Amino acid sequence: MKCFTEAEKQLLLSLDPFAGDEGSLRTLEDKVVVARKSNTCSNCYAVGKAGDEERVIKDVFDGDFQTHRYCAACCMALLRDHKNGGVDDAFYMRHERAITK
Ligand SMILES: [Zn+2]
Repeated sequence: MKCFTEAEKQLLLSLDPFAGDEGSLRTLEDKVVVARKSNTCSNCYAVGKAGDEERVIKDVFDGDFQTHRYCAACCMALLRDHKNGGVDDAFYMRHERAITK
């Protein structure tokens, strides 16, 4: 399912899901794509479906190559946090809820 406008995608890509993390980070790729298969979200661990939009970030962090995928709901949360000035941390709460289940 497609749920982001071009403007939302551009805004989304300007938002850093790793804000506050420490270490050396080199981003290789950062884009919003339509998933070709079902993937697990790196933030909330929900399993998406092929055809869902997701943000994929590939980077080298402290010398290790890694790929992060964020489901549409987490991307929405990141956009919502941005609109709210980052105050309600909806994005991080999705992660917190997933790991404390
Ligand atoms: Zn997610």
